[in-house]
Amino acid sequence: MGMKKTKERPVSLRDFQEMFKGIYYDKDKRDYTSADLLLHVQEEAAKIDEGMRKTDKSEIVRALPNLFCWLLSFCNMEGIDAESVIFSKYGGCCPYCGKEENCMCITMDQKSPYWHASPNASRPIAIYGLQEMFKKIYGRINKMAWRIQIWLHVHEELGEFSREFRLRNESEAAEELADCFAWLFAFSNKMGVDLGENIWIVYPGECSVCRAVKCQCPKV
Ligand SMILES: [Zn+2]
Ligand SMILES: [Zn+2]
Repeated sequence: MGMKKTKERPVSLRDFQEMFKGIYYDKDKRDYTSADLLLHVQEEAAKIDEGMRKTDKSEIVRALPNLFCWLLSFCNMEGIDAESVIFSKYGGCCPYCGKEENCMCITMDQKSPYWHASPNASRPIAIYGLQEMFKKIYGRINKMAWRIQIWLHVHEELGEFSREFRLRNESEAAEELADCFAWLFAFSNKMGVDLGENIWIVYPGECSVCRAVKCQCPKV
């Protein structure tokens, strides 16, 4: 397996996406289509379903990094920069009510006007900061929601995203993808999981299964 290099933990979501590109892009190109990668996302989401059904937090915490890995690998395959997609919808505020903190608009029916970004909000750089941004905007309302409600919202958005991707509606797909990430961050917040740390534990700059910096796993 060669010499063991000291690897540095990625800082931003973009860095994590790059890390996964290094580990899996060549293999994914060889073995999978983009749709296959989305099916893998679905498989991981189903493991979280199972964890939710059994209220097994450890199963959920184990599946989350894998879900991120497949979703970001899908983005790599499609040439999508996940961070840009997120920020173009959630630029420091709720896109529906424009609030930078404590949005409650999900409890109201009106879903307009549509705000694209908060002019004064700065983009967090670290993945932790991104997670905190979502906590600031939606933490209050999500404190009142059940875990299962937030998880179902993730799954709903994954389904909507899959549909728009299948129909090749690019701008709708980008919006749905941003929602998938927004709810995934909300879910991580609700579960008390530090996403960056959690991903790094499972993927410390190498494949979680074969431990190579460029995955050598057989096609599964
Ligand atoms: Zn809002
Ligand atoms: Zn591997």
